[in-house]
Amino acid sequence: MFNGKNKAITFSFDDGTTQDIRLIEIFDKYGLKATFNINSGFFGQGGELCRNDRMVAHKKNAEKDIPLIYKNHEIAVHTLTHRNLTELCEADILYEVLEDYKNLSRIMGYDTVGMAYPCGGVNNDKRVADIIKNNTPIKYARTITSSYSFAPQTNLYQFNPTVYLLETDKMFELAHSFLSLNADSPQIFYIWGHSFEFDAYDLWDKFEEFCALVSRHDDIFYGTNSEILLG
Ligand SMILES: [Zn+2]
Repeated sequence: MFNGKNKAITFSFDDGTTQDIRLIEIFDKYGLKATFNINSGFFGQGGELCRNDRMVAHKKNAEKDIPLIYKNHEIAVHTLTHRNLTELCEADILYEVLEDYKNLSRIMGYDTVGMAYPCGGVNNDKRVADIIKNNTPIKYARTITSSYSFAPQTNLYQFNPTVYLLETDKMFELAHSFLSLNADSPQIFYIWGHSFEFDAYDLWDKFEEFCALVSRHDDIFYGTNSEILLG
């Protein structure tokens, strides 16, 4: 149960780009809660990237702005410099995870025990998950593999999100099923993405429509990843 409710919705956004500020305004307007996964080795770095055949801003928020921007939400580890952990030795995996954990915990003033694996494609495996589980304070780590399911998962170190926001039609379809679900056991709707994708795919309005649709339901608990996965 989540605060006495069987249904919970949570969001997870990666990379800590400046578009998070606009996204958080939407989340706060609708009373939604999210977890933001950040690379502390890249604070303040600027740039653009090409996505969907257009150039979009890909600038990282500055360290000094982090506590204020994310004060209503959870900050979690995304490794120090966004390397693919499956290609690293144990010492390098631990350095990437623990340095980010230490930096983010110091900046936020709480234990940042959540994590999302960096890089696309195959960005996690059992070796990496076991190293993190056995040697770090991290308590859950999210993959990018859509489960299309609301069922709670036992392996929190390779936790699969329900859906990716760029699977937009599927995301709305799942929302309608979730809203009409009469749950007699815990059910989690978990959405992930990057806020710069709203620029690249003109999805700001569509995503706000999604937030309005899923918000303010009495039978749903709205929490950060930690609040929902760790209870
Ligand atoms: Zn990332």
